[in-house]
Amino acid sequence: MPIRVLEPHVVAKIAAGEVVERPASVVKELVENSIDAGASHITIEVESGGVKLVRVSDDGHGIPADEMALAFQRHATSKISGFDDLELVTSLGFRGEALPSIASVSRMSLQSRAAGSDVGYEVQARWGELSTLTAAGGSTGTTVTVRDLFDNVPARRKYLRSIGAEASRIADLVSRLALAFPEVQFRLRQDGRETLVSAGNGNGSDALVAVYGAQVAEGMLPASFALDADGDRLDASGYSIGGYVSAPSLHRANRTYMTFLVNRRLVQSRTLSYALEEAYQGFLPQRRYPLAVLAIEVPTSEVDVNVHPAKREVRFTAEGRAFTLVQRAVREALVGSSPIPEVRFEDIMSPSVSGEAARAMSFFPMTGPIGGSEGGRFPEGPTGEAQSRDMRTRLPLLRVVGQIQNTYVVTEGPDGLYLLDQHAAHERIVYDRLVGKSGAGRQPRPLLQPQTAELTASQEEMVRASGELLAQYGFIIEPFGDRSYLVRAVPEVAAGADPSRALVEVLDLAAQQGGLRDREDAVTASIACHSAVRAGQALTQREMEELVLQLEEADNPHTCPHGRPTMVHLSAHHLEREFGRR
Ligand code: ADP
Ligand code: MG
Repeated sequence: MPIRVLEPHVVAKIAAGEVVERPASVVKELVENSIDAGASHITIEVESGGVKLVRVSDDGHGIPADEMALAFQRHATSKISGFDDLELVTSLGFRGEALPSIASVSRMSLQSRAAGSDVGYEVQARWGELSTLTAAGGSTGTTVTVRDLFDNVPARRKYLRSIGAEASRIADLVSRLALAFPEVQFRLRQDGRETLVSAGNGNGSDALVAVYGAQVAEGMLPASFALDADGDRLDASGYSIGGYVSAPSLHRANRTYMTFLVNRRLVQSRTLSYALEEAYQGFLPQRRYPLAVLAIEVPTSEVDVNVHPAKREVRFTAEGRAFTLVQRAVREALVGSSPIPEVRFEDIMSPSVSGEAARAMSFFPMTGPIGGSEGGRFPEGPTGEAQSRDMRTRLPLLRVVGQIQNTYVVTEGPDGLYLLDQHAAHERIVYDRLVGKSGAGRQPRPLLQPQTAELTASQEEMVRASGELLAQYGFIIEPFGDRSYLVRAVPEVAAGADPSRALVEVLDLAAQQGGLRDREDAVTASIACHSAVRAGQALTQREMEELVLQLEEADNPHTCPHGRPTMVHLSAHHLEREFGRR
């Protein structure tokens, strides 16, 4: 085929793939335009996870009639006029790509009335083809309607997840936007139900209440970088930070509750999340994560916003400075709230010792020859004698020696040392009781006093998508208005835990497990994970013996429901070799 220049509509469709990954990206681009237009009220309506409909209406300054068609042209923007402007850009948009990209993969309508004009206009775009401008009513501001997203790009459509999953991404995004722009009132309506309304009064803590509920908001500490006596920033370079982070008693099972803004742009940044997590070192139990909304301001010339097609990432000229900023602000907030951080085992253990020991252990995973669906997931390798034994059905008899790091149970078996991960092992036990034939673990255990749980919009979407499964596995809950739910019963395996916390955590874990084979797996594995004894928890000798006995009963004792090993083995042979006895 000779080289040729692609038709503009083909180019647009290709480019759309970068800007518009999924319905939530449409919401993001449209809301960003509304914010850039100075809107103070933004309403987002979504149907069927945004695949059928996304409509964003704002009360911003609108678009003059003679510019409406232009807005659909590629690289047409009112926000920059030359490359140098990029260094100074303060608007969220700057590429002029969103409207044409979305238009090329949907049926779209743009309705707008510019400030100072008495009439509004509408223009429609059908798979990129523009209609002529017609007069339309409406007050000052803009409404963009996007229907049937990706109907003309089946390949793209295939990559979308379930409607529930897409809906919950949108809820998550709008929640973050509401946290990021507390001065704007956001209203999110999903399939006719209002799932989020923020105050829009400029108060960050009110935004937290709207998004996470009053209980969580109360557990958040203000964090900011200190000012000196004259009110000047200590950091002379003009870097500053403000926001909220969770008190040490408030934490979550995953990182989804971290929201970072750089010059008011929502960004995902490993550096910043790492800085945040590091600052909590010693304050949180293992594998628990803080909640945070942190807004960093840096001079526009020190940050490149043009590095990601969907503008999700930025590049700092001085990344280390941003890192330090997060750490100092968070650390200050935490130390102020609880002056004696707990010192944990790994902090005092020399890294070379623990590293070496870990490497020696990992030569002998016990997960090699297991049959069934878990089989073959771990690489063959030098698994030594463990390989030759048939461990399909039974564990060797194990004698409990003790516990280390409140996380691992040390046992002795017929061939050396067996180290159990107490959480993974217990997770397996609970999981089997939950899904096993007897069904004992999934019996609802009614609460004497029903408890209320406040859910976030995305947790609520998970309830909507998986409500029946939750009930089937013992969670009896009912709506209690305004994103509150009454928890009436919890699964037997989760009895004893705080019921509303159990629900929230199971919903979060389930949302995180998108990769599992199906939703039922996600729900059951999440209940098991929540109900299992945690790493970091001290166990009595009896409890450890019980754990080992129960693990021996499990169908698949060598892996947890996620497929991670429950134990590692250090063989007698290996010990002898290490100590030079052979
Ligand atoms: P960009 O935001 O990068 O400029 P877009 O394709 O998103 O590009 O939008 C193109 C132009 O359309 C914007 O520059 C702006 O002038 C106008 N526009 C889009 N949405 C709105 C809105 N909600 N209110 C006012 N103007 C808008
Ligand atoms: Mg834009």
